Amino acid sequence: MSKWSRRRFLSTLPTGVLGIGLAGTGKASASSLSSTEVEPVLRIKKFNPLGKTGLKVSDISCGAISFFEPNVMRYAADLGVNYFDTAEGYMNTNSESYIGQSLNGIRDKVYIATKHAYNPRQRISRQNIIQRVEESLKRLQTDHVDVALVHNVADLRLLENQELRTAYSQLKKQGKIRFTGFSTHNAPVTLKQALNTDFADVVLVIYNHLPEQSRPVEDLVRQVRDKGIGVIAMKIFAGGKQGSLQSFVDKQTSYSQAAIRWVMSNPSIDCCIPTMSSYAHVEEYVSASSQTLEKGDEAVIAAYREEVHNLYCRVGCSACSDACPHDVAVNDILRFNMYFDDYKMEKEAMRYYAAIEDDLKPLACSSCSGPCVQACPYGLPVRDRLLQARDTLSP
Ligand code: SF4
Ligand code: SF4
Repeated sequence: MSKWSRRRFLSTLPTGVLGIGLAGTGKASASSLSSTEVEPVLRIKKFNPLGKTGLKVSDISCGAISFFEPNVMRYAADLGVNYFDTAEGYMNTNSESYIGQSLNGIRDKVYIATKHAYNPRQRISRQNIIQRVEESLKRLQTDHVDVALVHNVADLRLLENQELRTAYSQLKKQGKIRFTGFSTHNAPVTLKQALNTDFADVVLVIYNHLPEQSRPVEDLVRQVRDKGIGVIAMKIFAGGKQGSLQSFVDKQTSYSQAAIRWVMSNPSIDCCIPTMSSYAHVEEYVSASSQTLEKGDEAVIAAYREEVHNLYCRVGCSACSDACPHDVAVNDILRFNMYFDDYKMEKEAMRYYAAIEDDLKPLACSSCSGPCVQACPYGLPVRDRLLQARDTLSP
């Protein structure tokens, strides 16, 4: 099934389209496949309202933190994926450029969301925000984005900054942004705050089958969705280790699809955005569109949970932070290591690591007794993992 449609897709693409992407050359053609040229069974089958924005988004949408094959986005769009999530910071702005090239010519058929991060410890300037968003628009080859998210917000007091609010309000008035919101690794705090802000039309949150990454936000997700805020799930594969685990060689696809079905069985989640780095990813994830949890899903999910229990540093967790006398950025470093090992984003992971301030790096770990190890509720060998991450991520 999938090989057929991929072969057909590739054979109908103009050469220029195949030239874009990883090599960064050429430009996507405006031509697109008609729906009759793609095998109909492999398509998005469900579109959900994104809160009260009026947008109807594919239940399986596209995360764009990395690409391994050119023009993957266009392939996803041709299978019905209509919401593409990128960020200024992904691939050092190249993710936005690739999306701009891939979706050129079908812009009116898709929604694009991008994200910009602001350091709450640094001065925020209205002009700087406007300039950065306008630069994103140029890379995306569009005059507007459907959703502009403030990236990785730990505390919504950031969104009370007058310069930030004025900038986004001006961009909205000019039609350069349709809807605003935020992404967060700290949903138990920020979703509660979101109930009292008018900035959030859409939120992007970690949500997956691990009880510690779903139960603390279950009720809040429902409340913000009831308020009309669109809810999008990320980090849905709970570490994405299925490709690296020997025991999951045969279960990789079924795990990914079971994890998607689990997330989308929550009616308060409007869509999820697994990263679609390859044609195989697109097909694997799109196949789960509209599906409900199946017999056997719980078993494969349970097997995965058991395997990763003391391997996966839960994104957004800070349970060992207080135990560290040196303020090492444990969660960020182990997340970047996950990007390297499990997401296969080696260069990006090293770039993220290099951007961490030196005093937050694990430079003191080798001579430390490692009180972080006892503090980790999941039994991760934190100190060893940090030392290994330091070696892996350093040039
Ligand atoms: S081993 Fe490293 S992260 Fe752990 S407590 Fe010591 S300095 Fe902090
Ligand atoms: S090492 Fe354990 S306690 Fe520390 S951030 Fe990761 S999951 Fe949380």
